[in-house]
Amino acid sequence: MILHIARLHHPVTALGPGTRLGVWTQGCALACPGCLSRDTWEAGPEHAVGTRVVLEWCDRPDPDGIDGVSISGGEPSEQPQALAELLAGLAERRARHGWDLLCWTGLEEEPFADRCPEAYGLLDGLVTGPYRVVEAGGGRWRGSANQRLIPLTELGQERYGPWAGDGPGPEHPAKMQFQVEDDRLYLIGVPRPDDPARIQKALAAQGISLDGVTWRP
Ligand code: SF4
Repeated sequence: MILHIARLHHPVTALGPGTRLGVWTQGCALACPGCLSRDTWEAGPEHAVGTRVVLEWCDRPDPDGIDGVSISGGEPSEQPQALAELLAGLAERRARHGWDLLCWTGLEEEPFADRCPEAYGLLDGLVTGPYRVVEAGGGRWRGSANQRLIPLTELGQERYGPWAGDGPGPEHPAKMQFQVEDDRLYLIGVPRPDDPARIQKALAAQGISLDGVTWRP
């Protein structure tokens, strides 16, 4: 089945616990004001790959060096069948290697479960709700305070339970990650709203200019 993806990353260490694989889906109609990933909004055939190809990519690193898979976007729920197929393949690997499966959606929990019932049954954790810039800084792995981190399995409860609920949870180090691929610089994690501009300014001071940033139209 075809899945539209924006990119794949490994290792991801700033979006979920441990060392992870990252799958960013392509296509999001929610258009949250202040979204830092505007490049993932437009779906198109150039982003189409087979779920089998994504799973083969997931098998490349040493699986026992992976703690889980983070699926973000874009809006993963816009491709419910392909997402379910991807998650079914990942769940087989979870059983063998102890991975957890964590997904971000701009929908609230109920509409996500309605749209993606099969995926909902396969995930260990779900971060729900649109990004609201006025409530930015929502706690671990959440971009804004309205969003919810919901453990969905025992494994999810073990790994995400301490940070679920309304409060910020136990203290944790703020973490951001940079990855450079070809001529692109990727910022992975949950930055505060002013972080991208501060990073851009710091790089400019070193003579490095960023063109085509994803947080401005
Ligand atoms: S923050 Fe997420 S859900 Fe909102 S527009 Fe951006 S990609 Fe879509």
